[in-house]
Amino acid sequence: MPHNLLEKDLAKGGNGGRRPPHRNDKIYQERRKRKYECVCGGKFTYSHKARHYHSKKHLDYIKKLYSTNI
Ligand SMILES: [Zn+2]
Repeated sequence: MPHNLLEKDLAKGGNGGRRPPHRNDKIYQERRKRKYECVCGGKFTYSHKARHYHSKKHLDYIKKLYSTNI
């Protein structure tokens, strides 16, 4: 085994570790595909979670929820 290969791998691994390891890629993909059911009755995927919370449907529901509780 050439030692320069090992050095390259070490440099890659010690580069802040910003990128998740490859073995986690599948987990992230599964999570992204997963559908969540919101309290407002709407459905969204993990990648659209933040967008859903700002959607009209969701905000209307929250508004209604607060107005009925008070
Ligand atoms: Zn919602």
